[in-house]
Amino acid sequence: MFYCEECRKKNKWPEGFAVSRGPCEMCGKTATCHDVPSCALPDRKEKPVAKKKSKKPVELTPADEKRCQCERPNGATFMTFGMAPGLVRCKNKPIVVVTEREATHEDGERGSMSLCPHCYNKFIERMGDDFATVRAIEREGEDKGV
Ligand SMILES: [Zn+2]
Ligand SMILES: [Zn+2]
Repeated sequence: MFYCEECRKKNKWPEGFAVSRGPCEMCGKTATCHDVPSCALPDRKEKPVAKKKSKKPVELTPADEKRCQCERPNGATFMTFGMAPGLVRCKNKPIVVVTEREATHEDGERGSMSLCPHCYNKFIERMGDDFATVRAIEREGEDKGV
């Protein structure tokens, strides 16, 4: 920023380290002007954008309408040779997408997942009817009869 003494006083801007003669960027008058980096001006309108703390949004898995997103124990235990205990994803086709009524994630996002009839029944058994809202998955080109 290049401004004359008059404009400097008017805006209460700092005196520049370098001073030279030229047209003032504020009033256009040719005068002895202060040459100051714009970012050094306290009340400049276009302030350099303050870097926001990048809060990484929690990536929620979008509901997969093609395959049930339920995971259930694969039946293996650590005693089962060659098989790791853990969860396997259900392979059934989902019929509904359930979405939490109350956000359980820290950022207030509500998780949702697709469930097949079997897993949906289990889900209701475990969580109850009120835990989530349920949306039926509509399939185009299916169930229309042959
Ligand atoms: Zn000026
Ligand atoms: Zn399932």
